[in-house]
Amino acid sequence: MTFFDPENSELHSDPDQLTRQKNARRLNVQSIDYAASSGIINGYEVSLTKCSCIDFSRRRKPCKHMYRLAHELEIFSLDGEVINDPTVKNWKEQQLERYPLSEKFQGCSTIEKQIARECYNLRKLLIENPNVIEDFEKTGILSLKIDGEKICFEFKNLVET
Ligand SMILES: [Zn+2]
Repeated sequence: MTFFDPENSELHSDPDQLTRQKNARRLNVQSIDYAASSGIINGYEVSLTKCSCIDFSRRRKPCKHMYRLAHELEIFSLDGEVINDPTVKNWKEQQLERYPLSEKFQGCSTIEKQIARECYNLRKLLIENPNVIEDFEKTGILSLKIDGEKICFEFKNLVET
């Protein structure tokens, strides 16, 4: 039983799912195992029932990687031009590129630097452990202590679609 069985066909016309189908058209398809119906796409391990990306971990519905796998296996057809682009970076790579700990913090106070470092570590933790996010699914708020002060981070729109 997979998301692509006929009884699940309604799911794929949901607007959120259509967005993922559109975004599935240009990805880095690294390998497809036709016998096992699985593959590596954008660095994620993907099958017809699950994917190692954060989007799937949060929503438990087919992500763009799963749509692309299904397309490659010829069990689901994506509209428009479908491209295999090895230069496409995954979310983790984009985030690490966008938010490195940089020289920018040189002029900051100790507490600012500490907060920046904690944010960076937190972001790294989230990127490396998508399941951590699930623990905070209910509130969308993560809290941690810096010098005994409780600091809360609210995460919204964290997931690429
Ligand atoms: Zn995925």
